[in-house]
Amino acid sequence: MIPPEDSKYVLVLNGAAASCIVVPKEATKGELDAAEELQRYVEKITGARLPILTSLDDSATFSILIGRASARSGLTFPDLDRESYIIRTNGKALFIHGADDDGVFFAVCTFLERYCDVRWFWPGELGEVVPQRSTLVIPGIDVQETPAFKWRNRGPGGPLWGGKDRISKMRELGVTEKHIEEVQLWERRNKLGGMKVWGGHEWGNIVPPAKYGKKHPGYFALIDGRRDRDFEGFDGKHGAQLCTTNPDLIAIFSAYVDDFFAKHPDYDALHITPNDGGRFCECERCRALDSGKRLEKNPARPVITDRIFTFASAVASEVAKRHPDKHLMNMAYSWYIDPPERVKINDLVIPQYCLWSCYLHDNKEKKKRHYLTAKGWSQAAKSVAIYEYFINGSWPDLPRIVYAKIAESLRYLHSIGIRMYQAQAGDGFAVNGLNYYIASKLWWNVDVDVEALITEYYDKAFGAGGQSVRRFHQRLQRAWQQAVEAGGDPSCSSFATSSVHRLYPLELLHECEDDLRRAGSVVADDAIRRRIDFLEKGLRYVILTIKAVTLTKELESLGVAISSDTISDEEEVVRLDRRPEEDLEQGGSVGELTRSSLRAWEERDKYVETLKDDFVISYFWIKYNDTNRKFNPIDRLTQLSTSLPR
Ligand SMILES: [Zn+2]
Repeated sequence: MIPPEDSKYVLVLNGAAASCIVVPKEATKGELDAAEELQRYVEKITGARLPILTSLDDSATFSILIGRASARSGLTFPDLDRESYIIRTNGKALFIHGADDDGVFFAVCTFLERYCDVRWFWPGELGEVVPQRSTLVIPGIDVQETPAFKWRNRGPGGPLWGGKDRISKMRELGVTEKHIEEVQLWERRNKLGGMKVWGGHEWGNIVPPAKYGKKHPGYFALIDGRRDRDFEGFDGKHGAQLCTTNPDLIAIFSAYVDDFFAKHPDYDALHITPNDGGRFCECERCRALDSGKRLEKNPARPVITDRIFTFASAVASEVAKRHPDKHLMNMAYSWYIDPPERVKINDLVIPQYCLWSCYLHDNKEKKKRHYLTAKGWSQAAKSVAIYEYFINGSWPDLPRIVYAKIAESLRYLHSIGIRMYQAQAGDGFAVNGLNYYIASKLWWNVDVDVEALITEYYDKAFGAGGQSVRRFHQRLQRAWQQAVEAGGDPSCSSFATSSVHRLYPLELLHECEDDLRRAGSVVADDAIRRRIDFLEKGLRYVILTIKAVTLTKELESLGVAISSDTISDEEEVVRLDRRPEEDLEQGGSVGELTRSSLRAWEERDKYVETLKDDFVISYFWIKYNDTNRKFNPIDRLTQLSTSLPR
């Protein structure tokens, strides 16, 4: 029975509970979580705490039946796909029915968003918007939903910082458990999740060079006539590639996969992706499988897609004998990013096309190429996944507000049959949170009205200040768009290649400051005021970074070598020993600039340390970028400044 739209059901009346929540007698953890989530938020909205019961209370005027509790009402539901749910009012009850625990939890979150007006814009208390009402009334509801993408993941997984994965490295960097949990909770409330996939660059774990290197050099790539022996230098992620036509490897891989699924039966897929970096095998047997094409970006390198997926498919045919319902994921990346020409990919193998990135899609040529590659992959395998880069090692979490590009690309990928999506993401919600929020909504429903979501974001989170906050974002959006349209990638992998000071000049950032100041001046509400402060904290990080880059670039323009990749030995001596002093005598601009650049980076780094745990910036990616990509020249500046006369 479809409830009439104008039906009204009262959950809370004038601050008093007018309904109860019912869970099954032997409720699963998921059903209990869902019931408690509902109880918690109804209380936050109205002050009334709905009781959670394990059996129907006939005297109750209205019951909310969670999960399998609905079975006792006699109402039956159709079979649902994984994570799907039905939310339906009928008689004296609201049914929150899910295909599984995830479905039930997601149904509660959807109910809270759509019918109780709760929002989770970013992690933590400040990012949630909870309306205050003493009476909570809902209309007749009949909703059935299933996710547009069956994998909705903010990644990456697998070895990332050397052999360390993202979360364990975050812990090592001192990011608290509470922070990590809050982010995961935000993801769950925005219905991220779906498939469980383990890993990333995985060869180093499957065939560890320390274990096999000395005994079985034949397992490893032949480079320049010898088997790759740089096993000592293996960092857990880069190099130590394999000779995939060595017949022993199929048995080693399938044993590894068997062992993994025996220990983790809840996982759907395991990565068997090569290590990062190049140095792939040059032996006759391996090369014979290649198409003969060269990489468009670097014609010195062969396209090796066919050999990589020939190997992955061979492993999959072994694995299929024991795990026909599991999958092996293999990135389509680096020398194997182009779709295959010859191999028929085993249905168990999911190629994960690494799409770097829709943030460049204001450049028509790049967009066309990405779409073509994605289409090629979608036709080459039964199931295909995406790996996107909302943030990456080449980007120290400065603004890159491209939700419109994300929406467009994601819809295209969905239209060609792609149903799995993972994006490299960070926790910098004051800087790039809008991308994450909008992506989460599109992953669930590609047809969602993005403009309506954005309007809601400004109105609900920032009230009267919303228009000014929108202007603040628009300035940054425009700057990014113009830079990309001009043909460049404004990202940077090192200080040397960075042009962020031209992308976001300080004058622009000061206008952004004015926007936020204006936003703050028109709001009275304390929570909204603190949300604007949150954005201001993010902007302060951006300003400090751009200030430091601008000063140091100026120093560089005076002829002082900053980045190690631009310093020759000879120059090093001249510049370190003479240049600053010489210049000091001529008015001191080099010495002065060296000191002020150093001070600017020190101030920026000190500030970054204060923002480890509050979702303002992505501490992890800033550190990754500073350290692994040489964006931060503070060591060099320190060295230069000690050579200056005191
Ligand atoms: Zn080989």
